[in-house]
Amino acid sequence: MNYAPAVIVHGGAGRRDPTQEEAQRQGVRAAAALAWEHLRHGRSALEAVELAVRLMEENPVFNCGVGSVLNWFGEVETDASIMVSSGDAGAVGALQGVRHPISVARRVMEETDHLLLCGRGAELFARAVGFGPQVLETEERRRAWERRRQTILEGEPAEGAPDEEHWRRLRAFHRRYLLEPGPAQESSCPPARAEAAMSQVGAAAGGSPSGGSETSPRQPAGGEAGTVGVVALDQQGCISAGTSTGGTMLKLPGRVGDSAIIGAGTYASPAGGASATGHGEAIMRLMLALRVVELQQQHVPAPNAAPLALQAARQARGQCGVICVDRQGRLGRAFTTERMYTAGYTNLGELPPERSAEGCVAEARGG
Ligand code: ASP
Repeated sequence: MNYAPAVIVHGGAGRRDPTQEEAQRQGVRAAAALAWEHLRHGRSALEAVELAVRLMEENPVFNCGVGSVLNWFGEVETDASIMVSSGDAGAVGALQGVRHPISVARRVMEETDHLLLCGRGAELFARAVGFGPQVLETEERRRAWERRRQTILEGEPAEGAPDEEHWRRLRAFHRRYLLEPGPAQESSCPPARAEAAMSQVGAAAGGSPSGGSETSPRQPAGGEAGTVGVVALDQQGCISAGTSTGGTMLKLPGRVGDSAIIGAGTYASPAGGASATGHGEAIMRLMLALRVVELQQQHVPAPNAAPLALQAARQARGQCGVICVDRQGRLGRAFTTERMYTAGYTNLGELPPERSAEGCVAEARGG
């Protein structure tokens, strides 16, 4: 039986950044068009998802692949996952030195009995199957890292700001365990490159903190958008979903977010598939992608499943978004953040640009 193919792409949920808006919009549209070409010509959803994610991993405007944000030590650690409706899935977490984590996730799925490889093991696996080592850091990401880190270490978060507690805990952790380790904590000293990173921050601390939203302690720590996700249905009725990210800026090394977790950031079943983005800790608590797919399994159409699943996130004040496709080729999208750029195609044509978060809810009601 021939299914009507469909694809939807997101470029991350988060704050609006007018300087990146056009490039990110074009980026998600190009990825959707690439996936659509493949699906139209009868290729698999898995292939379409991987190729579309890879295109965005090559684009420095997104927080994934070459454009990944840096962790607290100034290193890039990426998370990615991919799943197909047969139940097969693969994922990598805290992976270093690979431009295309989505492809490594696919190889985990195809070449091992495991679901998720992390850190050093993921890197060893990636090298063994022919990926990297590659340098991922961009100058812009390094500058943003320096400014933001300095602000956390030196600035004062606004009282009552949503991220106030996060900043304070990060700074306290840094001071207690990383900056001045006592004899008892010697073993918890960071590696040499982390120390080098810290001395750079020390040098930068002499200058005045730069202004603008980039450095404002009021901004949520995970507020940079740019994680990417793709969900597709092919002509054979197979559904695939994939997600790739550099994670949250200034995360502690070794932190793995929802984008590596099947059920949280990515999920696919014969009824539908979903990819989530936003604050990973909130998404993991909610198992957001699985929630969406479970609604689709109960025959809730994709346009309604996304906002319905997000109600729980809204109640928990979680900053996130989700896209989905169902077996009938319908597309869904919803977000609680300022914005989440999306693009997509069905047999009816190109998906119009998303409106506001409220606009997505209205869209689901047919408004
Ligand atoms: N969900 C990602 C993470 O927490 C980040 C994002 O989607 O913006 O790692």
